[in-house]
Amino acid sequence: MVTLIQVALDTPLDRLFDYRLPDDVGAVQPGSLVEVPFGRTLQVGVALGSPTDRAVEDAKLRDVIRVLDDRPALSADILRLAQFCADYYHYPLGAILLATLPPRLRNATPFVAETPWLVLTEPGQGAEPGARARAQRALLDALRNAPQSRADLRAQKQGRHAATLVAAGWAAWSRIAPAATDTPPTADAPPATAEQQAALDSLLPALGQFGVQLIHGATGSGKTELYLRLIDAVLATNKQALVLIPEIALTPQLEQHFRRRFPGRRFATLHSGLAEKERAENWLAAPDCDVLLGTRLSVFAPLPRLGLIVVDEEHDASFKQQDGLRYSARDVAIARGKQANVPVVLGSATPSLESYAQALSGRYRLIELKQRAISQAQLPDIELVDLKHIPLDNGLTRPAVQALSETLARGEQSLVFLNRRGYAPALYCPSCAWVSPCPRCSARLVFHRATPHSTRSHRLKCHHCGFETRIPPECPSCGNPDLKALGQGTQRLEETLTALLPAARIRRIDRDTMRPRAWAELGEAVHGGEIDILVGTQMLAKGHDFPNMTLALILDTDGALYSPDFRATERLFAQLMQVAGRAGRADKPGRVLIQTAFPDHPLFRYLQRHDYSAYARELLAERKQLELPPFTRQVLLRAEATTMDAALAFLHRAAALAPDTADVSVFGAIPAPMARVANLERAQLLIQSASRQALQAFVRDWRPQLDSIKPRVARWSLDVDPLAF
Ligand code: ADP
Ligand code: ZN
Ligand code: ZN
Repeated sequence: MVTLIQVALDTPLDRLFDYRLPDDVGAVQPGSLVEVPFGRTLQVGVALGSPTDRAVEDAKLRDVIRVLDDRPALSADILRLAQFCADYYHYPLGAILLATLPPRLRNATPFVAETPWLVLTEPGQGAEPGARARAQRALLDALRNAPQSRADLRAQKQGRHAATLVAAGWAAWSRIAPAATDTPPTADAPPATAEQQAALDSLLPALGQFGVQLIHGATGSGKTELYLRLIDAVLATNKQALVLIPEIALTPQLEQHFRRRFPGRRFATLHSGLAEKERAENWLAAPDCDVLLGTRLSVFAPLPRLGLIVVDEEHDASFKQQDGLRYSARDVAIARGKQANVPVVLGSATPSLESYAQALSGRYRLIELKQRAISQAQLPDIELVDLKHIPLDNGLTRPAVQALSETLARGEQSLVFLNRRGYAPALYCPSCAWVSPCPRCSARLVFHRATPHSTRSHRLKCHHCGFETRIPPECPSCGNPDLKALGQGTQRLEETLTALLPAARIRRIDRDTMRPRAWAELGEAVHGGEIDILVGTQMLAKGHDFPNMTLALILDTDGALYSPDFRATERLFAQLMQVAGRAGRADKPGRVLIQTAFPDHPLFRYLQRHDYSAYARELLAERKQLELPPFTRQVLLRAEATTMDAALAFLHRAAALAPDTADVSVFGAIPAPMARVANLERAQLLIQSASRQALQAFVRDWRPQLDSIKPRVARWSLDVDPLAF
């Protein structure tokens, strides 16, 4: 009898494939990774069950080539989570399953993980080496106390004895040091504040089963401290904690903080900044770790003893993947918590309106921390500089410069926030009004000055498609040689500040200057007082705790106040709260200065009162009236084609094929706000419903039809719960 199995493969086709399983390839279970022939190539796939009915006739069946037993099978809970994603995001299961793996484990090349730890095996616990094997006995005793690292053993010339113990089965090489048998010590935590204690009283009893808790806590109110205590409680029951954070940049800092708190516990990190090998190793180590700290992709990590999921800065847009499987790691975390019956803790100073609405309605439990944890730390004063009355000089007003120079004179630090990389947002020609267009996108090329240490010349760069070119010697349109930089970017701001405040030590932080490892060094430089002024983009807004930083200056955020994107004000408010939260964290009062031409905008009124809740309620009322999320659910069908007509024609056809469902609205096909990127024209079609079930049923019927639309377009995709339009 032939054994058949179904294999999920990373193809755009939303189906599984049948293969014959020869007897000699080894044992296969659901979740096993296998290598199979597919078309004219070999592919790695995930074995699932046996087919219920045969799709392929015997003669056409092909054989599984081998089982990749150098890596564990995907566990049942990961298979279930992937199935949830396939259903909810209407995306092929095979593509999702393979995407849960680190890239290095998606190919069939055997992977040999490093095994840096020598650990005691069970037979080793009671083993008695012969009386004369003194060195082995000593090593065995040492192992009974703690695992030994390969590097140390080598340095102590113990390698031969280690090999003997391994050969005897008394010790084994391991990827990760197992936890000490008795509960390792926990470093001293500060006594909880009254608010933290109240939060714990309500959170601790909720551990042990599914439920979503939203911690809304002002910056510096001690949310991280709360997570640590919850994790402590979970680790004490021999369970694992998964902590999702938005930025790679923050992992080293946070990891250090966590490690210090839980000495002897096993940590693993997962994020896209790791080298491929390290990422594969950490993924393989995840089942044995106590705490996994990582960015959105770690929501799919194998954690057999999962006991708690924390999503820090849950409002952050980086939890949403913007291509391929467009999932929200926060939402998948909640689904995972529900499947595993594990509590999920979301935390933010500015929760997303989606989460906040759930909390207000009682579906999530709302926990509020209103005071800063360090009692002297006051929330900063927020002042507006009215650009209708006060002129700008190189992007800065006189009160702003004055505040910077006073802060400098007091020996304190400032932060200047401008969310625009480069020297200037565009280069322009005063005689014919040419404004450096990107030849491939409907966007302007950004002017980047050469840095002093770089060998490259000044460049024009597209921030959307990556196109780059030299600065033209003259206007390409009229020949005028006198081109000007238009507006301000962080590079130019740095230059202006250097000229205005020559005594200040200024450091610029944006994606052009920062590599993940550079954060630790930057933190030390700021703490050590080597920097007076930090200039930077939104990267600055996140999570850093600089006690001597007393001034935050915010330039040019007016674009978001009247943006067509309905989430722009929510995002701006969150960003400004975060930046403001950087000022005055310790014993010195902080001050925030915002330059704006719209000082009467309601956003500022709430910001000045540090009143997220009131603003959130106002925005929610507005959303409700306009029937926007979170009161409705949305799905966006995007199409990209070489011409706008083709992209729109595809969407018109898609709209015509839409099932006629009550409660679901299909809007008109329109060009995307950024109509052209990398030479492709982009259009979109919005589907909306007040009922998530109705919308899901609609897309379930609709999606298979989209595959059949002719003529095809270069690319189309469905985005469930889109965040960017
Ligand atoms: P958040 O994550 O809400 O921004 P943190 O947990 O980072 O806040 O806490 C802010 C600061 O307050 C940190 O320096 C932290 O060490 C300190 N802190 C937090 N909780 C306490 C406490 N109970 N007692 C003393 N200091 C605390
Ligand atoms: Zn010109
Ligand atoms: Zn471009």
